[in-house]
Amino acid sequence: MIALRDAEKAYSGGVRAVAGVSLTIERGTSVAIVGRSGSGKSSLLNLLGTLDRPSAGEISIDGHDIARLSDGQLSALRARTIGFVFQRFHLPEGVPILDAVADGLLYRGVAGRERRRRAAQTLERVGLGHRLHHRPNELSGGEQQRTAIARALVGEPPLLLADEPTGNLDVASGEVVMRLLRDLHAAGTTIVVITHDREVAVQLDRQVEIADGRIVRDTTTGGAIASPVRATASFSGGRP
Ligand code: ADP
Ligand code: MG
Repeated sequence: MIALRDAEKAYSGGVRAVAGVSLTIERGTSVAIVGRSGSGKSSLLNLLGTLDRPSAGEISIDGHDIARLSDGQLSALRARTIGFVFQRFHLPEGVPILDAVADGLLYRGVAGRERRRRAAQTLERVGLGHRLHHRPNELSGGEQQRTAIARALVGEPPLLLADEPTGNLDVASGEVVMRLLRDLHAAGTTIVVITHDREVAVQLDRQVEIADGRIVRDTTTGGAIASPVRATASFSGGRP
């Protein structure tokens, strides 16, 4: 799905945030990229997601060497291949979530009605079928993140990249989001989650640890779940 060879990312000021990373992520796997704050995780995610081009080295996505693509071709490849989820949910303020999710299909040549139909279906899938006309400020953090995931998924990309998806959530909402990501993986989506949280990392098949922009450990555990997901619903009487 993604292959990096000796990839580097240097910023002006001389910081080598990614300092020579070779990494292959197979289709259908789930991978955690773990490391402390400042270790280069987000910079690496930007390379994996083709939001940024490397200063050196090679990156291929879904069989395409990105150095050979124009910016326009790269955006098109990104739009059909990758869904992004961020720590801050990045939902448009004041826009009902049905429309925000439908807009995830704007660049795919899908007609308006069909966009809304698929958006409703995807919101059902993340457990928000009863909240279609709510605006982000009327939702909990966990619901906002599930909306962001729905928006990333509505175009059915084979790859989902998430940067600290539970970073702004309480423990219970974080568990719901991780359960959703694991379900998506079980249904065939390749998942890459960036996190500084080991409890999150161990829920994925493979843990790649980075420090100072380099891989220092790469472990495949098969997604052992450290602590079983708690029955949050019975606590609060509903979804967090
Ligand atoms: P992480 O996500 O693991 O916290 P980042 O990839 O955000 O790490 O940052 C890695 C290093 O690169 C840090 O030292 C950070 O200060 C630096 N850095 C990140 N983005 C930029 C930028 N746009 N310009 C200059 N330096 C940056
Ligand atoms: Mg980061």
